[in-house]
Amino acid sequence: MPDRYLRFTQSGPGRFVTRRLGLPQPAPLHRWSAERPVLEGPLLLVTAGKSTADPAAVLARTGLPVHTTREDGARYAAVVVDATGAGDVAALREVHEGLHPVMRSLTDDARLIVLGSAPDPADHHQAAAQQALEGFVRSLGKEAGRGRTAQLLRLAPDAAEAAESTLRFLLSPRSAYVSGQVIGVEATETITAPEDRDRPLAGRTALVTGAARGIGEAVAETLARYGARVVCLDVPQAEADVRAVAERLGGQALTLDITAADAGERIAAALPDGLDVLVHNAGITRDRRLANMAADRWDAVLDVNLAAVLRTTDQLLAAGTLRRGTGRIVATASIAGIAGNTGQTNYAASKAGIIGLVRSLAPRAAAEHGVTVNAVAPGFIETKMTAAVPLFIREAGRRMNSLGQGGLPVDVAETIAWLADPASGGVNGQVVRVCGQSLLGA
Ligand code: NAD
Repeated sequence: MPDRYLRFTQSGPGRFVTRRLGLPQPAPLHRWSAERPVLEGPLLLVTAGKSTADPAAVLARTGLPVHTTREDGARYAAVVVDATGAGDVAALREVHEGLHPVMRSLTDDARLIVLGSAPDPADHHQAAAQQALEGFVRSLGKEAGRGRTAQLLRLAPDAAEAAESTLRFLLSPRSAYVSGQVIGVEATETITAPEDRDRPLAGRTALVTGAARGIGEAVAETLARYGARVVCLDVPQAEADVRAVAERLGGQALTLDITAADAGERIAAALPDGLDVLVHNAGITRDRRLANMAADRWDAVLDVNLAAVLRTTDQLLAAGTLRRGTGRIVATASIAGIAGNTGQTNYAASKAGIIGLVRSLAPRAAAEHGVTVNAVAPGFIETKMTAAVPLFIREAGRRMNSLGQGGLPVDVAETIAWLADPASGGVNGQVVRVCGQSLLGA
């Protein structure tokens, strides 16, 4: 379903009418393409307080020219404010001083990134200052406009190097629909930097559930573009479609119902050489208000979206199928699991359950198996599922976010590809929303 409103606002009369009526004016987003693969313009690095991270060297490797002093006439494609050492309210003033003068000198689609530290439970002044950054960044995302995004990256001590893959993602067109996020990065002993930065998944195997169509198809496509050999899994009823996707990507199709008691064992048997990336994408909805929801609707959604994810994850970890060091599990939550949604008690419960699973399992999976566990939480994504939503609800879903438009399946896929990157070992237990900073569950 094309976004006709977005196209209308790009025309002369459309711009005039929407401005006069005070209607949203979404900007076409600069997404990754072979023709425009990087942000266009320099990056300004400013420090608020004493830095505990020293990110200059890592930022230089992202490919953007790094300025450390503001230059007259420059239009910045990115501003990074290093507030890792901000320990009191006075240091917050320096965040204002760093960003306030450049807010009118940003390119469209500019990236605003604040580097912070975890709030310290033993120091309430530091905790106040660091938590303040969250409100600051979320507000910045809401007012920045023109496809610009804002994020808070919380770096653990000595985690600047481990944050490289995350900074590369956030400072690129790949993160076009990710805004207002707080992402933590831990230091890791070994950082598996890929040989070819354009193909970070070369030599890796990735399995995507629900890959016959929609977001799963885009995930398989994107992981293949980054060099992965993809195994596309879907139900037997979708065999023709999933085979076509696998064939197009030079991968392998696997037809099975993920709710089968032995699904994990069958996946392990199909991958005797092991697996690097497991993407739990398959999901269903069976909407009804709770008063009208029969048990079969409840069971089907909880089984596909949550129980099967738990079961196959346990089986694949126990079988040692996921490779130590580069093993990555990415599950799919939803903003419905954060905000709740009328008619979706079953769906929201299943997706909130995914968040619980990820936060609990992540530290143990890293310690015991050398595998990270993260989730994406998509907002309104333009798919067949959302095209079927009634017009007014669909329009509200599309516009009620800071970017004023729905996301595309590729936006979710790019986020999953970053979490799947062998160099993303420091990103663990995170739930990253791909929702254009939706007002729902904000
Ligand atoms: P979709 O319905 O287009 O595709 C889902 C795929 O999963 C289908 O190919 C289906 O056959 C497969 N599948 C379903 N049950 C299965 C099972 N038991 N075993 C194996 N495969 C199975 O959905 P989508 O819109 O692409 O969504 C993908 C994921 O993203 C889901 O988890 C969904 O909940 C989540 N999500 C989507 C949106 C959105 O706006 N579209 C928003 C938030 C979250």
